[in-house]
Amino acid sequence: HDTSVTVIGLGLMGQALAGAFLKAGHSTTVWNRTTAKADRLVAEGARLAPSVGDALTASPLTVICLTDYQAVHELLGATDVALDGTTLVNLTSGSSAQAREAARWAEQRGARYLDGAIMAVPPAIGTAEAVILHSGPQADFAAHESTLGALGTVTHLGADHGLASLYDVAGLAMMWSILNAWLQGTAMLATAGVDAATYAQFARQIAVGVAEWLPGYAEQIDKGSFPAEVSALETDARAMAHLVEESEAVGVNAELPKLIRAMADRAIAAGHGGEQYPVLIEEFRTPRNG
Ligand code: NDP
Repeated sequence: HDTSVTVIGLGLMGQALAGAFLKAGHSTTVWNRTTAKADRLVAEGARLAPSVGDALTASPLTVICLTDYQAVHELLGATDVALDGTTLVNLTSGSSAQAREAARWAEQRGARYLDGAIMAVPPAIGTAEAVILHSGPQADFAAHESTLGALGTVTHLGADHGLASLYDVAGLAMMWSILNAWLQGTAMLATAGVDAATYAQFARQIAVGVAEWLPGYAEQIDKGSFPAEVSALETDARAMAHLVEESEAVGVNAELPKLIRAMADRAIAAGHGGEQYPVLIEEFRTPRNG
């Protein structure tokens, strides 16, 4: 089994990817538009391909990590190298539509294609902390899973090529929502002289506690039935009003509390006040642009 690998794109991330493959003992070919970025990797044992075409045919598996999908199309579209039989793993960040389109394009050229999303910073690559999501045909992932495993904790999400980027942005929504909620509380408590570190201990417990609710709430969403088992949305809405009022009273930003309240108010106006919190999913399913 040939476990050699090619990395195309040696920016901050691509260099980390190639470095991790080398460290794990894979024979590694690299290519970058700006050749000098390969110097350190070549010193560590990588082979510098003289052209993109050579890079693509050097290994059964090619990992691509460029700025964006436009760069990927510019680069691979320009070469008349047959991608026949090659497996491309595109770890460039982009949208689900771009991923699906790139998959069609690559498959028309005879390549196997997996799309991926890196949920990590370059220094984490090669450790278990680096979560790397893949989507596309299961068999193509399985064929290269052990090689890809050199990069971190690798996961296959499903056959739809758009899944990796959708999970990627879903993760960002989670991350920013948790951080923003924490910053809101930090700003409010600072008005009473509480420092960020003190509140962070408490906030962490809240975040962990709320995370425990997700499986049960998800069951309600998947069933489309939202009985108020612990609390009704109109009860929550009264607490939201306190959050808005307190934010205004202590003189901090009330935009986020008001948004939280506005979404619940709309669901209540639509007749869902007696149901449980996850009934708000309808508010999130409805397109609106602030
Ligand atoms: P860099 O800006 O460091 O690197 C960009 C790379 O793309 C370089 O190798 C650059 O080549 C290449 N490139 C851009 N346009 C072209 C083109 N038209 N033709 C050929 N090559 C091109 O970015 P990163 O390495 O940090 O990021 C790469 C991808 O990884 C992005 O999609 C990013 O979102 C994603 N990512 C990055 C993370 C990070 O923390 N850095 C975290 C998670 C994902 P050249 O060197 O010649 O300019």
